[in-house]
Amino acid sequence: MKNINLENGSKIAVIGGGPAGSFFSIFAYDLADRMGLDISIDIYEAKNFEKKGPTGCNHCGGIVSESLVQMLSAEGIVIPSHVIRRGIESYTLHLEQGTTVIDTPFHEQRIASMFRGSGPLGSTDTSLKSFDAYLLELCKKKGATIYYEKVTDIENEPDGITIVTSNSKTKYDLVVGAVGLNPKTLNLFQKIIPGFKPPTTTKTYICEFDLGFEAVNKHFGNSMHVFLLNLPNIKFGALIPKGNYVTLVLLGSEINREIVDSFVNSQTVRACFPEGVEPKNINSCQCFPSINIKNAENPYSDRVVLIGDSSSSKLYKNGIGAAYITGKAAATTVIFDGIAKEDFKKSFQPVCSKLDADNAIGKMIFLVTTIIQKSKFLKKGLFRMVVFEQSKEGSQRKMSSVLWDTFTGSASYQSILLRTLNPTVLVTLIWNIVISVFKPIKQKK
Ligand SMILES: Cc1cc2nc3c(=O)[nH]c(=O)nc-3n(C[C@H](O)[C@H](O)[C@H](O)COP(=O)(O)OP(=O)(O)OC[C@H]3O[C@@H](n4cnc5c(N)ncnc54)[C@H](O)[C@@H]3O)c2cc1C
Repeated sequence: MKNINLENGSKIAVIGGGPAGSFFSIFAYDLADRMGLDISIDIYEAKNFEKKGPTGCNHCGGIVSESLVQMLSAEGIVIPSHVIRRGIESYTLHLEQGTTVIDTPFHEQRIASMFRGSGPLGSTDTSLKSFDAYLLELCKKKGATIYYEKVTDIENEPDGITIVTSNSKTKYDLVVGAVGLNPKTLNLFQKIIPGFKPPTTTKTYICEFDLGFEAVNKHFGNSMHVFLLNLPNIKFGALIPKGNYVTLVLLGSEINREIVDSFVNSQTVRACFPEGVEPKNINSCQCFPSINIKNAENPYSDRVVLIGDSSSSKLYKNGIGAAYITGKAAATTVIFDGIAKEDFKKSFQPVCSKLDADNAIGKMIFLVTTIIQKSKFLKKGLFRMVVFEQSKEGSQRKMSSVLWDTFTGSASYQSILLRTLNPTVLVTLIWNIVISVFKPIKQKK
């Protein structure tokens, strides 16, 4: 087994200054400091997060789950109020059969919505601050140097790895790939990591509707609007309020223009917008970004490791949380164990395997959600159950809390499954399905 370790003066290159690259850098500096190890980190980032629109944005719904907000603040990373666009305190569930507002299980305002860049294309609002820029700023404070350059090549050398940009060629002791799902950059890693297979992806959709603060407040409030509609390919559709904007996120398989149109033209979605405003007619910033639906294989070798979306993420939800988990695990490995392939296999791989195992459960949960989406009776029963739960204490709103965690990614899929399989929850759900066949649902106004 090879023994390769970081030493005083070791140089690390992090390719990608999204959340994974930033979390790695923050934790690597903190842990090295604790060990009395003097390292330096250069972060290469192709985008400028101060720019508006796609060139400054790592396309995302912008929800930070409550569990992540708590974990980050325990690490001393407190997301500042100027980055948070809105605190989400409830979700509004929309079905063809009706709409209900479901408060967070314990009436606390604990998830945040924010922009990854500094706002949608065309926006002139200078108060919009980027989450990714905030994290990069923290890295800079810890000592990292940020190069706003695209890495164009990576070369393996006997005693290091060379990073090539249009301006420079620099050798490093360790290279950390936090390049998201960028196919060209992932190909560069395939060249230097034997057996590396990039993640499998599918197309999603994001759109930012500029409605103005008043209209957003009136029609969407501090609520994430989630849609369980019987439409093909869509596993999750949500409208998320953010200051003057409402972000539409569609997740599923190979979302295209036709699927988007079927969603925005549906009566249930149009009813959420101010009277006379047709979502399809609003001039908006939109894109079809990829999402990780199957994690990478062998994302490491001697002196190189991939983290975040480039290796393992959480299926459909809380990708920023997964970037935190894998970024921290890689930092812990390189500081305490070493930077050889065997070190990553021993200490980093188990973390990725745990995410993989949880995603397998997640796939099952989304399969069941799809079945519910397609069945009028199952949907009515589920709806009836959550409407009824709103009159109960927080701890008794079991299905509401299961749905909250499914929609926000605040808990592991394993925890969601175990809570759903609770006999009381199952029996109550079945009873509600049976009764809803005969009785209409009373809705909360
Ligand atoms: C539609 C959609 C909605 C989502 N909603 C949410 C949500 O609400 N909450 C949540 O937690 N997650 C969400 N996610 C997932 C989340 O966006 C990702 O999991 C997260 O961004 C992963 O972080 P990362 O740092 O690994 O990659 P990224 O954020 O993609 O960052 C990678 C960085 O690497 C840079 N890079 C790539 N190649 C190079 C190169 N050659 N040289 C220099 N730099 C390079 C890129 O410019 C980029 O900044 C969503 C994803 C999608 C597609």
